[in-house]
Amino acid sequence: MIRNTATPPIPTTLVLWVTVFAAPLSLAQETGSRKLHVDSQRLQGTLERLSEFGRNPEGGVTRIGFSEADLAARGYIGGLMKEAGLEVRVDPAGNMFGLRAGSERLPKLLFGSHIDSVLHGGNFDGDVGSMGAIEVIRALNDARVKTRHPLEVVIWTNEEGNHFGLGTLGSGVAAGLLGPEILDRKDEQGLTIADWLRRYGQDPSRLTDARIPRGALAGFLELHIEQGPSLDEAKVPIGIVQGIVGLKRWQCVTTGSANHAGTTPMNRRKDALVAASKDVLAVRDVVRGEAGRQVGTVGYVRAEPGAINVIPGRAEFPVELRDLDAATIDRMWARIQERFKRTDEEEGAETRCRELEDVDPARTDPAIQAAIREAAKSLDLATLDLPSGAVQDAQLLARIAPMGMIFIPSRDGISHSPKEFSSWHDIGNGAEVLYRTVLLLDDRLNRE
Ligand SMILES: [Zn+2]
Repeated sequence: MIRNTATPPIPTTLVLWVTVFAAPLSLAQETGSRKLHVDSQRLQGTLERLSEFGRNPEGGVTRIGFSEADLAARGYIGGLMKEAGLEVRVDPAGNMFGLRAGSERLPKLLFGSHIDSVLHGGNFDGDVGSMGAIEVIRALNDARVKTRHPLEVVIWTNEEGNHFGLGTLGSGVAAGLLGPEILDRKDEQGLTIADWLRRYGQDPSRLTDARIPRGALAGFLELHIEQGPSLDEAKVPIGIVQGIVGLKRWQCVTTGSANHAGTTPMNRRKDALVAASKDVLAVRDVVRGEAGRQVGTVGYVRAEPGAINVIPGRAEFPVELRDLDAATIDRMWARIQERFKRTDEEEGAETRCRELEDVDPARTDPAIQAAIREAAKSLDLATLDLPSGAVQDAQLLARIAPMGMIFIPSRDGISHSPKEFSSWHDIGNGAEVLYRTVLLLDDRLNRE
């Protein structure tokens, strides 16, 4: 766990000085008080209303991307955006945007999240950042704040990817990583992504129009639940995301020799499952072998022929490694391969792995991190710097714009479950930090 120890303790008088005199007066008035500008109760009301779309018996939601429940919820969101005076548009990938004009000709400051869920999901993943973004706009309206940058709220399409097995779909198209090749993918009912986009009122042949050119955005901000236990355990209300971890995945096959379980002496066996089992432990040992937040997983082992009376001759298993630092992943993999080789020699087996996936880590922008830190400090809220172990839309956005993420605690670290929970108090604080971060960035970015 990385505590927020980067900055030495600053005397309160100095903090006051910095807040009052270093910032323009209007902004100091805006951010220098612990009073919330966002209306936590109003935010709670919209989150509770949103939770009715796709509600499941367990009290969470099943509102997967490209479903009737998702479509109905988007109708509700569009209405909220219009009510807040936003100019609403939907791009050909189904991403919903609500624009609030700025006073200068500057690139847009974009913030938002997603409202689709996993099967049997909860009420906070994505929803907090989506409704929090709309609440920020309502609060700015209430306070009659005019910003220099145009502000835009976004609801990304199909972040979870339960439908079509394709996550971060909307943000992936926006970032230029997905294109027309995805349109013919079929779901369980034989409907394609193109069919669903048409249902969402879009023209799939214009899909690439949803791309956002590099430089078109001043930045992207996302408020999100942590989906892990760090903030809850440390009792810290705000997480400053250092970046979204990268991952690499391999598929490994261990070959031994299948033989009679009764007649083959123990010293003459080439048991592929025994070798693979040692490999599973090797992955865990190497990943645990150095300090840090890196994680490594073997999700399953499939042994063949898979009979009670036959020594397994073949075992297949995947390896997944994740960390914020790509070099750490490579270093761990090199060590794991050494251990696999040793096991092969000990067990008379042969293990070969091929790479399946390589996703780069996405670092958050230092200036946005600093603004989040300052916004939290102006509210007397403690912060913790931490990586996001989960995939996020912001990861894709990092390719085209400076990006930052604000985390709030998830009770017991539970997510993707109806048991997912964040307190209304923490949600209100998170939305207020978003509000203040937006204003700090609006003031600072694109100054001559
Ligand atoms: Zn999410």
